[in-house]
Amino acid sequence: RTFADLDASLVECRACPRLVEWREGVAGTKAAFAGERYWSRPVPGFGAEDAALAVVGLAPSAHGANRTGRMFTGDPSGDFLFRVLYEVGLASQPVSAAIGDGLTLRGTRLVSPVRCAPPENRPTPAERDTCRHWLADELDLLRPTLRSIVVLGAFGWQALLPVLSAAGWPVPKPRPAFAHGARMQVGDLAVFGCYHVSPRNVQTGRVTQPMVVTAFTAAASAAGL
Ligand code: SF4
Repeated sequence: RTFADLDASLVECRACPRLVEWREGVAGTKAAFAGERYWSRPVPGFGAEDAALAVVGLAPSAHGANRTGRMFTGDPSGDFLFRVLYEVGLASQPVSAAIGDGLTLRGTRLVSPVRCAPPENRPTPAERDTCRHWLADELDLLRPTLRSIVVLGAFGWQALLPVLSAAGWPVPKPRPAFAHGARMQVGDLAVFGCYHVSPRNVQTGRVTQPMVVTAFTAAASAAGL
């Protein structure tokens, strides 16, 4: 199986009725993007197909990736993340505007445990579990080169660890809890916890650019990037 095969199947997925309704119905409801054509489908991973570093987020935002069709593209979280990736040398430019803008990632791939935009950025546990196989399939394709993962937030952490366990990675038992700055070695894979770069976390000062740069620098180093 190739990434193209995976993405072709993924974008046809309609397994979560609530999310299908939301991803389609939310299109054009924000004044700033009125009249714009929305992607409104599951969002594929973005970046290198031989990535040594994966970034695990949460889910597309209604007017960000659900609009542009590219992971972390078109919303404040993505704006923050790409500034960091550029600063660490993992992105070719600090801004991710839209598919076709020339942005490339170096040895890095962005994925999420839920691929459709959920209301209030909150997927249900059932939706998380229904979507799990897409993340598992993508990590399986990355497995030959993957050495490091940055997980943005507790949701991604809780979604990722069962996927790693099921794929045979030696996840410690009991599973370590999410924390910013957490580092877990799972076989030859280093997994780093980092607060999500959501507008709420940024505005409250819970997460700052230097904090996230530090986390990504460590993860890039562990990945040999
Ligand atoms: Fe399919 Fe995942 Fe979207 Fe649910 S969230 S419809 S499982 S792609």
